[in-house]
Amino acid sequence: MSHLSPVLKQATPVLASRGEGVYLYDEAGRRYLDFTAGIGVTSTGHCHPRVVRAAQEQVATLIHAQYTTVLHRPLLRLSERLGEVLPATLDSLFYVNSGSEAVEAAIRLARHATGRQNIVVFHGSFHGRTMGAAALTTAGPKFRAGIGPLMPGVAVAPFPQAYRYGWDEAEATRFALRELDYVLATICPPADTAAFVVEPMLGEGGYIPATPEFLAGLRERADRHDVLLVVDEVQTGFGRTGRFWGHEHFDVRPDVLITAKGLASGFPLSAIAAPTELMRRAWPGSQGGTYGGNAVACAAALATLEVIQDEGLVDNAAEMGQRLQNGLRKVAADHPMVGDVRGLGLMVGNEFSTPEGEPDPQRAQRAQQAACERGLLLLTCGAHGQVVRMIPPLVVNVDQIDEALALWADAVATVDL
Ligand code: PMP
Repeated sequence: MSHLSPVLKQATPVLASRGEGVYLYDEAGRRYLDFTAGIGVTSTGHCHPRVVRAAQEQVATLIHAQYTTVLHRPLLRLSERLGEVLPATLDSLFYVNSGSEAVEAAIRLARHATGRQNIVVFHGSFHGRTMGAAALTTAGPKFRAGIGPLMPGVAVAPFPQAYRYGWDEAEATRFALRELDYVLATICPPADTAAFVVEPMLGEGGYIPATPEFLAGLRERADRHDVLLVVDEVQTGFGRTGRFWGHEHFDVRPDVLITAKGLASGFPLSAIAAPTELMRRAWPGSQGGTYGGNAVACAAALATLEVIQDEGLVDNAAEMGQRLQNGLRKVAADHPMVGDVRGLGLMVGNEFSTPEGEPDPQRAQRAQQAACERGLLLLTCGAHGQVVRMIPPLVVNVDQIDEALALWADAVATVDL
């Protein structure tokens, strides 16, 4: 009998025993192409030798040096190196362990630094499962239902979801910004609003990239009303989208950036980055945590950063992502139930729709399961679970993309039957 809580919902029946690069192996030795990457985490591939070596050396030297008690070199070195890849204005870093915790830290900072309460988020966003982060999350019912009341002071405005609305991007963007202005005029007066929190591309909400005009519109309103623009790059950061940060696709300047997932190749580590002057407006000691900035996680993150740069993984994500999307469009052309293929870099979604144009989670799930049976691990996302997403490690090569496309074509064909 398993003592594992039934509260966990397994996406696949696989019991993984070993990982190497883009592959996972089960206990019987069966090999799976892992296009989930631990939900976009193992950016350098499973057990990249340089990440393994860095972590092993750190484990043998110093595992835990609590960062409000003593400092340690991996934390300082990582901060210096992250400073080189972050926007220059975001020169101050604070570390915790997970995406949700970093979101909590960003809420805390935004409220503290502005003296204002309200936060505006966007329909379909996912920011985490802890209670503050859950209050910002509208990616699907399972993240909020039955756990309220959630943190007050949160208003939700539309995200430009062109495909689902049946509009073009320009119309969807105009609608989203008009509704945001309405929210600011009626629900969240700017003088009471601390921050807009936004993903450059909806993740759990369905793999929908923002539009340049939408993010420019948020930036303009943030400047006009002195509201902070907090960009949640937990899933889109660290090369995932074919640029180092997802927001770089849109030429928008964040006031606070949240990073996690790909940052440490699977070790629990997350951070918020903001201007020192903003961080100073919060009291010293108002943020903290026992495990934040763990030495082994920091050493792994340093190695991750080096591997990403030395192996050209950001460019690889852009190139392989293009090849993946081109191939997926061909599959979709043969199977109208795949109504939309979209994404940035190696963050790609296939949205399933019924002939009437409604979300079709049943077929999405059947395709995901059929892919798993064929040795291709995938996940779903979207408010209804109607999107099958593909997020392989950034080290994926042409042969593996092509192999995945062949398995996917075969899996989708079985759903048609
Ligand atoms: N923000 C975004 C954009 C995410 O995709 C996620 C995780 N899927 C989180 C926050 C929460 O991260 P975690 O699961 O590490 O708490």
